[in-house]
Amino acid sequence: MEYAIIGALIVSGIILLGIGIYVVLEGRRGRNLWFSGFSFAAAMHSFGYAFELTANTVEEAFVCMQIEYLGISFLPTFGILAALELTGNNRRLHGRAAASMFVFSFITLILVHTNNLHNLYYADLSLTKIGIMTIVQVTPGIWYKVFMAYVNLAFGAGTLIVANSIIKAPADLKPQYWIYLVSFLVPGVGNLIYLAGLSPYNLDLVPYGLMIMSVLLAFGLNENQLFQVVSLARSRVFDSMDDIVVIMNKNNRVIDHNNSLNQVLSGQPRDHVGEHLSTVFDSHPQIVGFVMNHTDDHANIALEDDSGQVFRTSIHTVRDRRERVLAKYLTMSNITNEMKVLQTMKDLANLDTLTDTANRRSFHAQAQELLRLCGNGLFISLIMLDIDRFKAVNDTYGHDAGDMVLREIALLLKQRVRAEDTVARYGGEEFVIIIPDAGADVAVGLAERLREKIADAEMVYEGQKIHVTASLGVAAEVCSPDFDIERLVKKADTALYRAKNAGRNKVVLYSPDAQ
Ligand code: GH3
Ligand code: MG
Ligand code: MG
Repeated sequence: MEYAIIGALIVSGIILLGIGIYVVLEGRRGRNLWFSGFSFAAAMHSFGYAFELTANTVEEAFVCMQIEYLGISFLPTFGILAALELTGNNRRLHGRAAASMFVFSFITLILVHTNNLHNLYYADLSLTKIGIMTIVQVTPGIWYKVFMAYVNLAFGAGTLIVANSIIKAPADLKPQYWIYLVSFLVPGVGNLIYLAGLSPYNLDLVPYGLMIMSVLLAFGLNENQLFQVVSLARSRVFDSMDDIVVIMNKNNRVIDHNNSLNQVLSGQPRDHVGEHLSTVFDSHPQIVGFVMNHTDDHANIALEDDSGQVFRTSIHTVRDRRERVLAKYLTMSNITNEMKVLQTMKDLANLDTLTDTANRRSFHAQAQELLRLCGNGLFISLIMLDIDRFKAVNDTYGHDAGDMVLREIALLLKQRVRAEDTVARYGGEEFVIIIPDAGADVAVGLAERLREKIADAEMVYEGQKIHVTASLGVAAEVCSPDFDIERLVKKADTALYRAKNAGRNKVVLYSPDAQ
């Protein structure tokens, strides 16, 4: 039994030491260092007390107590500071107030270590044995009473601070604060029972309270993942990454993030740990919406600000073996430049380089899009235009002059169609115009205006005036489920052929019966 108690004390000391180290490593951003101090002090207390139980003489026990006080002296001070820190109230405590609390702790430590000279801390010490365990019976000196008053004051204040935070905390942080509260309460109440002389064998209950605390904290840290051991190298890599990484708990509260995050946020770069995702991205609701509505997915998200930046955004869920959500992480890669290149490539693939109109490939793609409109009883019209005797233009003025004419005509067409119409260069000097939502009358009207404009246009190439005319075939169909763009093109082509035969510089509407 006694060995079990001593063993348990050492184990709890090791756990507390581990928690302290864990939090120091995590504290690369200066977070929760008081909390790790509190853990180290508690660990020291546990180890010293475990040895104290094995002491055979008052002298041996006193040496152990001196070791214990390396921790105990600082427990209340670290406790208050940790309570403020864990609840996000660190700025409430003035530097001078903290310093005087430390002075108090140091005085206690010194008085304990020099007690043989003045007996200000312990007026007397004696031993009681329970099995192999030695229980030291203390007769308090003056400073002992002062220090215990301080301990209880700190305990009371720490409890109030944490309890107050539980009331104010958002629901998902409450369990975390409850763990802190119970962790503080157990050794604190144990100490009160001991001081009141109510503990069995007059046993100091604080180390046992710390034992329970160590288990609670280990559990709390593990459950809440607010602390992660990240090696220095890994954290450097994490922070130097261009990609944005945000790690959240299952309630979308930020556990960690790298420096890149601040690039997309307005305001001063700062630490967003502990904030809810919707607070962090309050100016980018699309990102919040994406995270809220997807579990493992990705999307290209354009920021709705003036920057015009596009991010390849992914959300991933990390689960444990029982499929419970442990954490989520959001990654965002800036793909603004890639998107620009892609757009340029798309434009290049879809546009005719000479005339800057749609090419034949993209004409077919857009015609395919039009099919989606079909079935609504809408008309679709198509004009096919071919420049008259264009070979002669090339022969007379040269190929470059011919190119210029093609560009001028393309421009003229583009300027005179509606936004929803598509002008495409269909062949050498042939253009097609798709006119959705327009019947034959409208299309023929437009074709006639285009024909006139071309005939009236005076194009100048190196001082030489060039006039051309064009022939236009028009075809119109009501959209039906069996609509076929190739059929419409053929009809317009047939009409165009008739316009050429009728003497050129003409508009002909397709009709099936005409020869
Ligand atoms: P019509 O259509 O009135 O029957 O006579 P046309 O002379 O226009 O007919 P044809 O189809 O025989 O000639 C088309 C000419 O267009 C042949 C080719 O040299 C010229 N052409 C085709 N593509 C280009 C181009 O990109 N630039 C220039 N300058 N000429 C081109
Ligand atoms: Mg021609
Ligand atoms: Mg031709």
